[in-house]
Amino acid sequence: MDNPNRTIFDKSSSGKGGYCLPGASTDVSNHIPEKFLRRKKAFLPEITENEAVRHYNGLSVKNHHIDKGLYPLGSCTMKYNPKINDKTASYPGFAGLHPFQPESTAQGALELLFHLKELLAEISGMDDITLQPAAGAHGEFTALLMMRAYHIKNGNPRETVVFPDSAHGTNPASVALAGYKPVQIKSSEKGLVDVDALKEVMNENVAGFMLTNPNTLGLFEKDIIEIAEVCHSVDAQFYMDGANLNALLGRVKPGEMGFDIVHFNLHKTFSTPHGGGGPGAGALGFKKHLSPFAPVPAVAKAGDSFTLDYDKPDTIGRVHGFYGNFANLVRGYTYIRQLGLEGLRAVSKNAVINANYLREKLKEHYLLPHDRVCMHEFVISADRQKKKGIRTLDIAKRLMDFGFHPPTVYFPLIVSEAMMVEPTETESKAELDRFIEAMVQIDKEVDENPEMIKTAPHNTPVGRVDEGKAARELNVKWSPEE
Ligand SMILES: *Cc1c(COP(=O)(O)O)cnc(C)c1O
Repeated sequence: MDNPNRTIFDKSSSGKGGYCLPGASTDVSNHIPEKFLRRKKAFLPEITENEAVRHYNGLSVKNHHIDKGLYPLGSCTMKYNPKINDKTASYPGFAGLHPFQPESTAQGALELLFHLKELLAEISGMDDITLQPAAGAHGEFTALLMMRAYHIKNGNPRETVVFPDSAHGTNPASVALAGYKPVQIKSSEKGLVDVDALKEVMNENVAGFMLTNPNTLGLFEKDIIEIAEVCHSVDAQFYMDGANLNALLGRVKPGEMGFDIVHFNLHKTFSTPHGGGGPGAGALGFKKHLSPFAPVPAVAKAGDSFTLDYDKPDTIGRVHGFYGNFANLVRGYTYIRQLGLEGLRAVSKNAVINANYLREKLKEHYLLPHDRVCMHEFVISADRQKKKGIRTLDIAKRLMDFGFHPPTVYFPLIVSEAMMVEPTETESKAELDRFIEAMVQIDKEVDENPEMIKTAPHNTPVGRVDEGKAARELNVKWSPEE
């Protein structure tokens, strides 16, 4: 049998070719200045076209991905990505556009961006949108720069930005990057913002408060109106980390909860692919008073045509090379148009029902520290299993043997041995039941066959790696010397 771990270089042999261009010369050396020519021939594999296809097809199924199976990665919203998104994104009129093309020749693309802004403003209850940020964290950073510009315009940039201890790590990182001092407040027993703790740190030196709603425990912040009032009493900007918008789509608008700014993760909520780290698409919604500080160019409408507006004297400038990750913006737009408002409402309904179904079934076997009806995700703990020598990490590894991507582990930090499960709306009950069965089976193995868990995974191309070494001595490149 063919060794599945043969590299493309193992399959190479001299003289094999993957192209067939009759009469074409591949010798370009006549046209390239001498100093740019390679001195040594590049070490490239020589294989046929079908070998190349098989090689990459093989690689594509070695890793887990959403087209292969359930991917309940909490906080990441790994939902199925409808293929129609890719179809529209690859329309020649979109895929073949050059970013320096004159506006008059890119009207369709600009119209799509303009319309996407309108849709996102409607969904979020915000006045204005920028599509430039390339991801959620980038949206946070952009928002913080806008807050700073706003406060400077009012005479004082202020010094700190506040967030709860359940916040995603990108929140404090963005705060620091924007030149503010991060201030963390403790969550209440119930896993929500402790409003008294917030009041204690809130003063006129606070530029803003960042909150994820529903929060990273999957719980809705029920004091949201009061929290907004506390912020606004000192004109601190109230920022919503919108990564969990999947729970609210078509039901609640961040703008109406009192938020001044919200970022979208189009690659989470609006189904643009993001397994493997990119490319993402951010987008940021904000209220009128922040509009003058938004990035340029802003896609705008002038009469019957669409333009790129650079005329914003107080802008923070550009945050992206061109206008945002255009192809992913097309995908997100397609998703929203395909579903319509009713479809979006069904998304949040099913995301929440699926999560609650799993939560109820799993809490018989795993500790559920915050036992409340959840939104689109919930956090269980392997504290009980840990007493018997099995940790969350082991359970995560073992889950791979059943064909599932593990949930997010050890986050949020306020739950020990945390497993954060987000099934999303795109999984059937049968698939959720398969996941429950696997989790129950693993819990049984904790007593009956702990070695099986400790040595997992057994069915993956690579077994358990030394994660410390893998992080410190990252080596993902094959080279001929090896
Ligand atoms: C994913 C996520 C982010 C960061 O978004 P990226 O698009 O990965 O940069 C921020 N906050 C929360 C709660 C998230 O889940």
